[in-house]
Amino acid sequence: MNVEQILAKLISFPVLGGKSNLSILSWIESYLTKLGIISFRVYNEEGNKSSLHCRIGPAVDGGIILSGHTDVVPVAGQNWDTDPFVLTEIGDKLYGRGSCDMKAFLACIMTAVPMMVNAHLKKPIYFAFSYDEEIGCLGAPDLIEAIASHYDEKPAYAWIGEPSMLIPIVGQKGICVQETIVNGSAGHSSRIRQEVSAIHEASRLILWLEDKMNQLASKSSDIRFNPPHTSIHVGTLVGGIAPNVIADRCSFKWDIRCIPQDSISQILEAFDAHCRTRERELRTIFPDFVIETINDHPEVPALDTKEDQEIAQLIKELTEANQFDTVSYAAEAGQFDEGGFPSIICGPGDIAQAHRANEFVSKTQLKRGVELIQKLISKFS
Ligand SMILES: [Zn+2]
Repeated sequence: MNVEQILAKLISFPVLGGKSNLSILSWIESYLTKLGIISFRVYNEEGNKSSLHCRIGPAVDGGIILSGHTDVVPVAGQNWDTDPFVLTEIGDKLYGRGSCDMKAFLACIMTAVPMMVNAHLKKPIYFAFSYDEEIGCLGAPDLIEAIASHYDEKPAYAWIGEPSMLIPIVGQKGICVQETIVNGSAGHSSRIRQEVSAIHEASRLILWLEDKMNQLASKSSDIRFNPPHTSIHVGTLVGGIAPNVIADRCSFKWDIRCIPQDSISQILEAFDAHCRTRERELRTIFPDFVIETINDHPEVPALDTKEDQEIAQLIKELTEANQFDTVSYAAEAGQFDEGGFPSIICGPGDIAQAHRANEFVSKTQLKRGVELIQKLISKFS
């Protein structure tokens, strides 16, 4: 199968983040099996989703992990000119959900499997395909652990094929998402001095978070990112039932997008310490006053690969790029890196096309993607 046929097949599986991906995974698995490659599944707890990994080439230390996610974002509410789950060619563009983010990379590497098999590789090439990337990089941690424990030999680094127009990306911000729930005491609004309003307290916490962002911005910056500092943002706020009723509950969801120099856990610890102080203060008025913060999804660490690291030099050589770049979106690269595999992001297609109606990848990018993998194979042979 050529790269466009494989891409068309991958796109025909409408596997949205959060939903079962076993249909697309089975197809990938059987494609690999036909080419003599044994792959392994890494299921989620419920058993309705799975990642997949395999190794092509010798059982020796070193080599590279090629990584991608099998899920895509929804199309609901978007105005598509073509069927999003039928790859449609118009001029140089191939339209479809996932065409760039990021089934294009999967198609490129899968196309090259026959060449990998016949190449007498001296260093192994691993595939690592995850699920639920689009809803918070949920599948990657187990997959990374499975690769580390399944093989006696250790891959040297990882290449994550998120769309970057095939420019090597050495940095990404880290992200984590929280929900904070404030439990106050209900009462008539005239009693605001005797009760604790969950809304008032939530508002103070939100201002504390904004202050924290300003402090961080004045302390550390990284001009490779936009904005060049860690950002903290509250996106939802829910609470209260009427103007004359003191709210006994208020919750808000917020995220931290962290430059590599800052630490998500330090910010969370500082917030937590502040919440405990507020609890102590307000329990003199309302003994059951509680502030609870829960993780909405696991932290995705920042990526800060140095330009002289082996993986950066390898991708630079393959792409003949004269520049490295950074991105402000979160990807699995930070997780692979934290898991002991220095990582880089580099994939066909433009992130500007991702997650929107009429997503496409150009045939030129797709062809170049395959050529890069072919160069990798030659280099490893
Ligand atoms: Zn993606």
